Amino acid sequence: CGIVGYVGQQQTLAVLVGGLKRQEYRGYDSAGVAIITDGGKLETAKKAGKLQALLDNLAEYPLIDGHTGIGHTRWATHGGPTDLNAHPHLADGGQLALIHNGIIENFASIKLELLAKGHEFASETDTAVAAVLVGEIYREVGDLQEAMRLAASRLEGAFTLLAIHTNEPGVIVAARHNSPLVIGLGDGENFLGSDVAAFVEHTHRAAAVGQDQIVKITPNAVVVTDFDGNPAVLEEYEIAWDA
Ligand code: GLU
Repeated sequence: CGIVGYVGQQQTLAVLVGGLKRQEYRGYDSAGVAIITDGGKLETAKKAGKLQALLDNLAEYPLIDGHTGIGHTRWATHGGPTDLNAHPHLADGGQLALIHNGIIENFASIKLELLAKGHEFASETDTAVAAVLVGEIYREVGDLQEAMRLAASRLEGAFTLLAIHTNEPGVIVAARHNSPLVIGLGDGENFLGSDVAAFVEHTHRAAAVGQDQIVKITPNAVVVTDFDGNPAVLEEYEIAWDA
């Protein structure tokens, strides 16, 4: 329900937790994060319950921080509010992590197709199907932005998707269809959020993502295309925020 993504020089876990805290007003039943460490490993933590449950878990089992990460608060629609069903969902042998806001209406047919190809599903969510689909396409095309574009073109319903892959540290890719997504523009760092609350603490420069667009952010670049891969123009604006 709440989404945050960060690439840059700051300690990423704190940025993610701060971004999720500021979106708590949206309501949620679980929370989770995934970070690519400087050593190129994927670290994840996810818990049913309030953000505090995730923080308690992180205090007991600390993860290695890094400079690329995604965070999510979930409002369950498919699969109960359990630790297992919380986001992020992993794919591609645990190298890819994906978070999702919304509902993927055609997940059942895609799931059957992926099961027939030998994929397994750890959770009952529609989101896990999107994760495995992006991972499956990534195996073929070897590029995360392209994999997200091709996967998003097959999905129906409402979705904001963010994904990271250990083969592409310093990169977050995202897709938007019938669900909100905003970019936060920083200096040597960039952000994604379901709303500006995710990053307003760090930057007041934002850019809206249009319907049916794919985004790739790195610390120093933002690329946006439509679902056909045609480049889109970034429309930057200043967030008016009395903090
Ligand atoms: N449909 C997804 C799920 O149930 C995402 C829900 C959300 O927007 O948080 O896991």
